[in-house]
Amino acid sequence: MDSSEDITAAFADTEYSAQAVDLAGRMAAFLRREYADGCRNRFNMDAALLSFIRRAQDLPRSEEMALRRMVKALEGYGRLGLGKRQYCLVQTGQQLARAARGGGSSAAPAEDAPPQAQAAPESRSYAPPRKNGAVTPPAPHAAAAQTEAVPRLSLRTAPSGAGTSSGPVAGPVLYKLDTPVERIRGVGITKRAVFQKQGLYTIQDLLLSFPVRWEDRTKFTPAADLRPGAYELMALTVMSVQVQRRAAKKVLIEASCYDESGSVKLVWFNQPYIAKSLRPQMQIYVYGKAEYDTGFSIKISAPEFTDRFSFSPSFGRIVPIYKLSTGLYQSFMHKLMFRLVPTYAKLLPETLPEPLLKKYGLMSKAQAVTKLHWPGSFEEMGNAQRRLAFEELFRIQIHTAKRRSGLRSRRRSVKYGDLDAIAAEFRSLIPFKLTGAQERTIKEICENLRQDYPMNRMLQGDVGSGKTIIAAFAAFAAVRSGYQAAIMAPTEILAQQHFNKLAGLLEPAGIRVTHLRGSMTKKTKMRIAASIAAGEADLAVGTHALIQDTVEFLNLGMAVVDEQHKFGVLQRQALKHKSGNETICDALLMTATPIPRTMSLTIYGDLDLSRLDELPPGRMPIKSSCVAFRDLDKVYRFIIDQIHEGRQAYIVCPLIEESANMEASAAVAEAERLQNTVFRGLRVSLLHGRMKAAQKEEIMEAFRSRESDILISTTVIEVGVDVPNASIILVQDANHFGMAQLHQLRGRIGRGTYQSYCFFAASADANSLRKLEAVARLSDGFEVAEEDLDIRGPGDYFGTRQSGFPELQCADLVRDYDLLEAAKQEAPLYADSYPDELLGDDGQDKFF
Ligand code: ADP
Ligand code: MG
Repeated sequence: MDSSEDITAAFADTEYSAQAVDLAGRMAAFLRREYADGCRNRFNMDAALLSFIRRAQDLPRSEEMALRRMVKALEGYGRLGLGKRQYCLVQTGQQLARAARGGGSSAAPAEDAPPQAQAAPESRSYAPPRKNGAVTPPAPHAAAAQTEAVPRLSLRTAPSGAGTSSGPVAGPVLYKLDTPVERIRGVGITKRAVFQKQGLYTIQDLLLSFPVRWEDRTKFTPAADLRPGAYELMALTVMSVQVQRRAAKKVLIEASCYDESGSVKLVWFNQPYIAKSLRPQMQIYVYGKAEYDTGFSIKISAPEFTDRFSFSPSFGRIVPIYKLSTGLYQSFMHKLMFRLVPTYAKLLPETLPEPLLKKYGLMSKAQAVTKLHWPGSFEEMGNAQRRLAFEELFRIQIHTAKRRSGLRSRRRSVKYGDLDAIAAEFRSLIPFKLTGAQERTIKEICENLRQDYPMNRMLQGDVGSGKTIIAAFAAFAAVRSGYQAAIMAPTEILAQQHFNKLAGLLEPAGIRVTHLRGSMTKKTKMRIAASIAAGEADLAVGTHALIQDTVEFLNLGMAVVDEQHKFGVLQRQALKHKSGNETICDALLMTATPIPRTMSLTIYGDLDLSRLDELPPGRMPIKSSCVAFRDLDKVYRFIIDQIHEGRQAYIVCPLIEESANMEASAAVAEAERLQNTVFRGLRVSLLHGRMKAAQKEEIMEAFRSRESDILISTTVIEVGVDVPNASIILVQDANHFGMAQLHQLRGRIGRGTYQSYCFFAASADANSLRKLEAVARLSDGFEVAEEDLDIRGPGDYFGTRQSGFPELQCADLVRDYDLLEAAKQEAPLYADSYPDELLGDDGQDKFF
């Protein structure tokens, strides 16, 4: 499926916009200069080509593709001989010059090429100077310019199309927004299943599933400048290709490549078909991560590559990276979205009132969606993102305005016993003295429980501040008053940990604690659900399994959600509505995400906020530092020393956002490597998201009871895990993580009385280094969040995923605070007239 071809063909006779004319003219002038200079490539053709292609992105898609096609022959110019250089300069120059006169495009076969102006203005015509008499003869029709009288065909269909730089135009509109994905050419039944697993059913769903990040693939790096750990774009020539068959089905392909500066090896495992598409002397363009091969030579494993740079959506631009399920590849997504977005984003209805777009200088919805997928620059992406963030906040505010009276009108149905006595009994159960902040929070909770409307409280406390004990208190208060309680955690590991802790704490007081998880057999789940329904369990700890339809509480009084930002709104609500009768129970949400007080009130309206701003006593500050890859050996040695002193260590493998499968396999490889090299003789265990729940638990339990020394893990340990004896964490490729996430990961250590150490390993650019150094320097989550806002670089725009407000897809409350204020101001003015159908999902009761 190569859509770009069709697009080009369909718009063969496009009349060029002023901008396209200008761009073509400049490029033609550049080529003239190069020619005059003796084709020595002193002006760097690759760079010129790239800048040309980038600027062409501002043009309507039809023009962009036509112009790109014209310059295709210049790819690999630097590696051509003189004769060939001259030939392509002339060829390309003529086509560009023709376009620069505003005429038709090279995409049309020569014989029906649009007629040329007789006397083209001198400045825009292409007249290669003759040199050494070695000039390739000009193409026939270039000299034979004709009159301009013949009318040109124009395929411009949409009035918003060619001629403006804002609305890219693609092929004809064949589908509608609600066309099912499988009807799209190139998708089909198998891919439909994959998309549906991600909740994507229609073209509109695809358009609104935004990239998880972007890669800047616009600058070439010479082979000699490759640094291990960095992702780079290269223009290479293939020297040789070797295929090695290792074992049954195991094939290793190695391509030795070079450019003017040096050489580099590309390797692929088990992708035999790759060999077929590589030939010696071929010019290819490669994007991938540089790594050390043997010695100090550099290799790139499984890079993306193309020999059709100008046509590939995946090269020469800022490229979106999508979340992938098994069966999808980025290159497929690129082609698909490259085709769909410009054509169909235009059909999306505008969701913001026109005056607001004007007043705040926001893009239209269509434009914002287009630019978010295929931004011409990071700045443009930022603007697109702002527009969508505003929309999101505005709709929430509309919704809030529409349901003003809200929660407080509801009566509480749960009556608590003597809360002072309950709190006193609770204190006697726990093995330590509560911190001042914990005492204050308990008091605040008790105040809520005495009111005659249900509690709706958020508890914010930095990692390690002791939130679990507060959850225990809330549950205890409900149970002592004759009700059931539930505590929901986002991972099985965490749920298991809570269950162990709370059972240990509360069972001696006669409270029956049970544990429900998704991975149990159906029979066991039924049995536990039955005991919950019969009131034979007082406290149920579990994962999402708690909110399945099969689970009904007899009389749920208190619902606690730990790491609340890991759940969706609907999930949090579902737990609250499990109370058995039609009422809503008390709710406590817990998070480590810093939430400035003003913000939470603005967005959540009726939510109370408690804060644990004090760590339990006896904690030593964690020593954090950033290390370069070449110094990893020292860190490994340090880890070994610490283990000999009786400590344990976490090693966190690189984050691969777009696919959990890839992440898991990378972790497996890393564990194998470390176990067989530096950590030979130590007990290394491995944990990743693709394991069965029981297996994860077993590994976690073994680590907790010190049966393993080092736990190599993907981010599944990110939240909540509490092993006080672990005193080291090494985060690999730390620059791929967000600052909040790094802070969370670091929160896994420093939970006991031992001096703890955190290492962020990265080979990173200046911006990422700043980010890592800031997290290393700061120990407080609030400060990390503030700094995060200051430093966020391009490609990091969607900080929201870790911001603690999962219901927000685009907006980030720290970054977009001004937008929130504006939305709050404007919404009441539009609330009455705002059509309900535009509210969409936001029309639901959004907040817990
Ligand atoms: P988080 O807020 O990250 O969820 P946890 O609830 O897991 O933190 O608590 C971290 C550790 O601190 C646990 O081992 C817990 O037992 C311990 N802890 C909590 N409160 C206190 C306290 N008041 N005194 C001493 N240790 C405490
Ligand atoms: Mg916790």
